[in-house]
This record gives sequence, C-alpha cells and structure tokens, in this order.
Amino acid sequence: MQTLDQLNIQGKRVLVRVDYNVPIKDGVIQDDTRITASLPTIQRLLAGGASVVLMSHLGRPKGGPDPKYTLAPIAPRLSDLLGQPVKFIASLPSSDETLAQVQTLEPGEVALLENVRFEPGEEKNDQGLNEKLARLGDAFVLDAFGSAHRAHSSVSGVAGLLPHAGGLLLADEVTALGKLLHPAERPYVVIIGGAKVSDKLKVIENLLPTVDRMLIGGGMAYTFVKAQGGKIGKSIHEDDFLDKARELLGKYGGKIVLPTDTLAGDAFSNDANTRVVPTNAIPDDWEGMDIGPESQKAFASALEGARTVFWNGPMGVFEFEKFASGTNAIARAVADLQGAYTVIGGGDSVSAINKSGQADRVSHISTGGGASLELLEGQKLPGVEAMA
Ligand code: AMP
Repeated sequence: MQTLDQLNIQGKRVLVRVDYNVPIKDGVIQDDTRITASLPTIQRLLAGGASVVLMSHLGRPKGGPDPKYTLAPIAPRLSDLLGQPVKFIASLPSSDETLAQVQTLEPGEVALLENVRFEPGEEKNDQGLNEKLARLGDAFVLDAFGSAHRAHSSVSGVAGLLPHAGGLLLADEVTALGKLLHPAERPYVVIIGGAKVSDKLKVIENLLPTVDRMLIGGGMAYTFVKAQGGKIGKSIHEDDFLDKARELLGKYGGKIVLPTDTLAGDAFSNDANTRVVPTNAIPDDWEGMDIGPESQKAFASALEGARTVFWNGPMGVFEFEKFASGTNAIARAVADLQGAYTVIGGGDSVSAINKSGQADRVSHISTGGGASLELLEGQKLPGVEAMA
C-alpha cells in the first residue's frame, strides 16, 4: 500500500475519502469517534501544504439527494475538532458548481462535500462519476477503513485516476488487523459473539486453524450447543448451520470453548424473569439471553496468559441491562490482560467496550465492522488493493 509520505502534496488539492457514516439524530451527532479518527490524516495533509476536500457517505439514501442523509451537521463538529473553518459544499459532488467551489480553496483550507451516495453512480463504481470526482483533487487519499470493503466510485474507482495513497487511519487498521492473521505472540485467543453463526462463519473458519482457543458466546453459541444434541429452548439458532457447526466441532473441538451455563429469560425483554440453567438444558419456553456466571469465569480463565486477543460480538443481548453482564465481564477480562495485544472489532463489541469504560485499556479498536470482518475472513479489500 502506498503511504502518505510517498505522495507529493505541497500546494496540491487532496481529495480524501473519509468515513463520516456516524449516527445522527434530529441533526445532532450521537458519536463522533469516526470524525476524531480522521483528524491525523487531515492534519498531516494541511501541515504538508495541501488543501483538503473531504468526501464520505452517510446512511443508505436511494441514489439521490435526501435531506435525512445530509452531511451538513458534520462540518461544524469537524471545524470544532480541527480548530479551523470547514466549508460545507451542498451541491452534488459531481457537479460543476462543486468543482468551482473547491477550486477556490487555498493551501491549509478544508472543504466537506455532500453525501457521495446522493450520486446514483457511486455504488456502481460508474466510470463517468469516477472522472467527475477525480476533477476535485490533484491526488486521492483513502482513509475510510469502514468503507474499504466496498468497490465504490469514492473508494476504489477514483483511485485509479489520480496519484493515491492510504491515509494514516487506513494504514493503522490494516497493520493492526493484519497481526491477527499472523500473530507474532501466542497463545492467541479469539472471542466471537453476536446473533448469528451465518454472519461470522467465514471469520470463524478462517481463524480456527490459526488460533489456540476460540470462545464462542452470544446467540450463535446455541447453534453449536444444538448441534451437540443440547436442548436450547426458544434460543436463537440456525438449523441450516447445524452440520457446519458439527463439522467445526469435530475438526477443532479441542480449541472451541462454548458456554456451559446460560442466563435464560422467559421473554425477549429487559423485564423478563431470569434463571441460570445449563446451556444444554434450557427449558422449552425459555431462551438463552447471556452467558452464565460459570461461563464468564471459564471464558476469563481461557483468556489468562493470552498474548494476542481478538474480540468481535457481544456475549448476550447486552442492549438490555439485565443481560449485559457476560459482555461486560469479557470487556473487563480483555482489558485486564497484561502485556497482550488486544483488538476489538465490529460495531456492537465496540459500543460494549465503550459502555463498560474499558476502551482505553485495549491495544486497538477497529472503526470498521464489515471491513474488519472481511479482512479477517482472508479477503482482499477493494479499497486497500486500490492503494497499491
Ligand atoms: P452482531 O452484530 O452479529 O455482533 O450481533 C449483535 C447482536 O447480537 C446484538 O444486537 C445482540 O443483542 C445480539 N445477541 C447476542 N446474544 C444474543 C442472544 N443470546 N439472543 C439473541 N440475540 C443475541
């Protein structure tokens, strides 16, 4: 991957694809982690004598302008964080009006374009759009790790038409996650949770040969328990994946650690009645909502001594306070590890670690859910490939 130092930026206008796909409610930004994560690259470019044109998507508009998905609220927040004005350009990124506006930028100045998914060609990687976007910069930098798995115009399409490089965030993510594919230090323990086996099967399959232990919690554990002949009551599971689960247990059983007890609920609700039951003997009308206390201890001791750790996906329905304890216990156990390289990836595990107050005690928190999983599946990301 080409890096920022390989790019001639002095006096140039640099088009930067960032990931400002942040939660916004009634025009108010709910979480600015992704905006903060873009600052080092912007500051480096400005310090190197460039002007900066920022480009991002937000949400899923239907290929046309939609005020619900405007990036306008980002500009003042970014301006506060950067400590300088940020000019918001409300016209379509491909328009001549936008071109005229970016042409007025002086070195050291910053502009933010409107949502690039308002362009019908964006997700089609349309060559006409690529050419229009390429007019906006003398060089292109990809720093949107969260979008690097998309072969879209603003990610990989425009890169083919301009001198390009990966930004600091992209480089940081690729290095951090790359270490999980080839861990330098063992034991290597992976914790996978979340709702469905089907979403994470490829990651599980790709990492199992490499890891020393894989702890499987969350809703997906019940498919494995059912595959072993356990009674899982009303717990979430995927019958289509029972054979696959059996195959993995047969091949890697020594490495896979499943929860032995479950905090079950009599309804999918924070008001549910609860009881702790063996994971393989959940009563008919009850469903597994979190790993139980014995499993919390077993998972924490399986983590002891680990030197490389990756965690993706909550251990239970952590959105309900009553069922957040397993996820919080894992957050603490990961954060407490001494001298280990610890990485958290994916949206829900990131909000879980943030909620538990342990975020600054892990080595790396990935900003890209889908992108980090695809990388760990062993796939090549179109955005990263385009930075070669
Ligand atoms: P994912 O996006 O695949 O990481 O899945 C996260 C979602 O899995 C969260 O919304 C959790 O509420 C859900 N989840 C975790 N454990 C369970 C469970 N035992 N039953 C139902 N949903 C679960």
